[in-house]
Amino acid sequence: MTILESARRGELTPEMIRVAEKEGVTPEFICDGIAAGNIVILKSSRPQVDPVAIGKGLFTKVSASVGMYETTDTPDGEWEKVEQALKAHTDTLMDLSVRGDIEGLRERILSTVTCPVGTLPMYQTLAEAEAKSGSSVHITADDMIEMIERQAKEGVAFLAMHPGTTLSVIQRAKEEGRIDPLVSYGGSHLIGWMLLNKTENPLYTRFDEIIAICKKYDVVLSFADGMRPGCIADSLDAAQVEELVLLGSLCRRAREAGVQVMVKGPGHVPLDEIETTVKLQKKLCHGAPYFVFGCLPTDTAAGMDHVTSAIGGAIAAYAGADFLCYVTPAEHIGMPSPEDVYEGVMASRIAAHAGDVAKGHEQAIKWDFDMSVARREMDWKKQFALSIDPETAERVWRERSTSFTSECTMCGKYCAMRIVEKYLRPNQNQEARQ
Ligand code: SF4
Repeated sequence: MTILESARRGELTPEMIRVAEKEGVTPEFICDGIAAGNIVILKSSRPQVDPVAIGKGLFTKVSASVGMYETTDTPDGEWEKVEQALKAHTDTLMDLSVRGDIEGLRERILSTVTCPVGTLPMYQTLAEAEAKSGSSVHITADDMIEMIERQAKEGVAFLAMHPGTTLSVIQRAKEEGRIDPLVSYGGSHLIGWMLLNKTENPLYTRFDEIIAICKKYDVVLSFADGMRPGCIADSLDAAQVEELVLLGSLCRRAREAGVQVMVKGPGHVPLDEIETTVKLQKKLCHGAPYFVFGCLPTDTAAGMDHVTSAIGGAIAAYAGADFLCYVTPAEHIGMPSPEDVYEGVMASRIAAHAGDVAKGHEQAIKWDFDMSVARREMDWKKQFALSIDPETAERVWRERSTSFTSECTMCGKYCAMRIVEKYLRPNQNQEARQ
């Protein structure tokens, strides 16, 4: 029985109990959320993996991606990025390799990391076709389905795919005259293959087979959007919305069969359209958890897009997005380094937490409250421990300050905390004297 089927019967599973403990909610809350389709649990057949829940009423989660793209990329190089992502406390990892020893790297990740791992099976399908015949266009619909089963069987927790990128949606994108027509790697290859072969999307026409595989291995389906806008001018155009409508109906079909689903979204979205984008997805996809890429509210910050995405990600999380796909400083200009991966995860974690505070998440609010008290009391060790990035906080402090009991060097002897303490908290001072 799948987790969703258990939830519908009101039966608690070990995974529900475990994630409830981590989230500080009851297992029944998790069970009800899964049954309603607004919470999913990412888990694996690999014994070391600790399940993670994503969805309504829970902490907003963060995902980091690694993967070999260039001929110079190696499994060891990507492994350094995995280590940095884990050091920065990513909640999940995605391996999006498109060349090299894809199986080897995936096995190393799946057999080692304790967080759930996601993949996009189309990438390896394309890579194997290219290795075999010299061109990635020589794939078949059977190849796509077989790869989905191969990866599900290995213990991948969530499988990303583009079943909503149909011929009709592609036609709509053509009519829209987009500035940046397509930015989805998997989506663009799939579309190229469909147009070349004059064929409807097999991930759509053979969706029942995909559901059966996901049900067999109890894997979460993660709908990716081939029409993800690649610039803010293309945000919320008819192609994006038409695909989302279709994904909503596929969400329903997957859930009816007992398969958990989440939906991935943009991408580039101006600040004033982020709330609408999130609310539209929630409505059209029947409350399915929303996994956003960013969002990026400006196209102009190359080299600093982890900041752009943190700005958009915080607004998206506040509006109801449940899961943030990280963006690194190298986005749009090159492959991220291990350091970029660390910074990208940290930026997304800040966004996720800021969104949770604004959403009224009690534990998130308490975290900020505890930090404010530690700041007032100049308890530096506590401040480091409560920082999203304790290592950086302590390093910066050690480089510039010396005393664990007095003000920092920012304002020195004019420290506002010290000066106002006597006047604005007289009762406390009196208590201290007694
Ligand atoms: S010196 Fe300034 S920044 Fe440092 S603790 Fe005091 S008020 Fe805060």
